[in-house]
Amino acid sequence: MADPVSALPAEADVVIVGGGPAGLAAAAELKALGVSSVLVLERDLEAGGVPRFCGHSPYGLREFRRLLRGPAYARALAAAARQAGADIRTGVMVVALHPGPVLTVTSDAGEARIAARAVLLATGVRETPRAARLIGGTKPGGVMVTGALQSLVYGAGLRPFRAPVILGTELVAFSALLTCRHAGIRPVAMVDPGTRVTARQPAPALPRLLGVPLRLSTGIAAIEGRDRVEAVVLSTPKGPERLAADGVVVTGQFRPEAFLPRAGGLAVDPGTGGPEVDEGGRCSEPGYYAAGNLLRPVETAGWCWAEGRAVARVIARDLAEGAAPRGTRIGVAGLKYALPQRLSGQGAPALRQFQIRADHGAHGRLGLRVDGHEIAGRRLSVLPERRLTLPLPAPGGRVDVVFEEG
Ligand SMILES: Cc1cc2nc3c(=O)[nH]c(=O)nc-3n(C[C@H](O)[C@H](O)[C@H](O)COP(=O)(O)OP(=O)(O)OC[C@H]3O[C@@H](n4cnc5c(N)ncnc54)[C@H](O)[C@@H]3O)c2cc1C
Repeated sequence: MADPVSALPAEADVVIVGGGPAGLAAAAELKALGVSSVLVLERDLEAGGVPRFCGHSPYGLREFRRLLRGPAYARALAAAARQAGADIRTGVMVVALHPGPVLTVTSDAGEARIAARAVLLATGVRETPRAARLIGGTKPGGVMVTGALQSLVYGAGLRPFRAPVILGTELVAFSALLTCRHAGIRPVAMVDPGTRVTARQPAPALPRLLGVPLRLSTGIAAIEGRDRVEAVVLSTPKGPERLAADGVVVTGQFRPEAFLPRAGGLAVDPGTGGPEVDEGGRCSEPGYYAAGNLLRPVETAGWCWAEGRAVARVIARDLAEGAAPRGTRIGVAGLKYALPQRLSGQGAPALRQFQIRADHGAHGRLGLRVDGHEIAGRRLSVLPERRLTLPLPAPGGRVDVVFEEG
């Protein structure tokens, strides 16, 4: 249920934008650390973020030491933040960031401004929809991203199709498979243009267990149908192939929900698509911090929860001891991104290691160099969308994260 918004406070010590796992974990932690006013602003009518619509497990092992389905997990996170004393307001959309920090928000009560000593951005990710992918053909109903499928199935109890094709093999594609199973939907194929499944084991075994053909090196060239999907034209190594289907789920290719930092003039990393941060989660503008999937596409709920807590500890420390310097930018070569993008060497880090992604599959050497000397590294095979890590170096010197193929 939406909390009343007419009484939105004009200021708070910390305002958190986004009531998903990262934002709610940060809220509870900030209150536990003695920050007096913590306000969470969530645009949906309920807090909890993406897990609200993921009706399957496994959620909650790291946080609550038990297996939960997404909605129960989301409720538990919101209850924990409320119990700690955080003020969670739903139905409130943050539409602009200003120096200060100050936020412009809109709600049923109209537009308002809220000032804060610190703002944590935790707005998560979204999947790339069909419109932004190179898929030809007609534009019938029944083509959707996983998030839309999950809110139809788990949120509204609907079955939008019976025999769709699932495009993609990132972890979320397997979440789409489980959602289909829950709704009695039998996908006719799971396809991916890549030569390997992107998600780690045991996810790749799931299509076989559920009797869904998994077809690699296969994309969707076109969608056919007038009002509803009637077929898809697959691009396969042997040429085009028509497959009857009544829907398409386009999964993954996540992008951070980074409209606010971009429009607000915060530095945004083209590699992650999210705001640039130092190892404390501090953005490029004073008083702004970021955590959770907004930082990069895409990690699990448990990871985002832990990250929200860790950045909350930095915020509490900065509030007590004064703002920290913004740090020095690291160099990145041969990779899609490395996060944090800056190192400030101030206090215990929230991001304890570099989170790294490659942009294509390759063999080679991943190395961390300080002033040109490798201080950590290993040979490995990389795949896009799979997490790679390297330790953070001691402060000082020019830092480069480098992948050399071969
Ligand atoms: C379709 C889908 C399925 C997924 N399935 C799984 C899974 O099965 N298991 C798993 O571990 N992870 C899954 N993930 C990853 C998931 O994003 C993380 O698990 C986790 O939800 C990330 O937490 P977060 O707090 O960073 O972001 P989110 O959970 O995305 O929360 C961000 C919140 O910010 C709010 N928000 C955004 N912009 C504004 C604004 N301007 N003003 C106010 N509020 C705003 C959103 O409404 C949302 O509630 C999935 C992701 C997607 C998109």
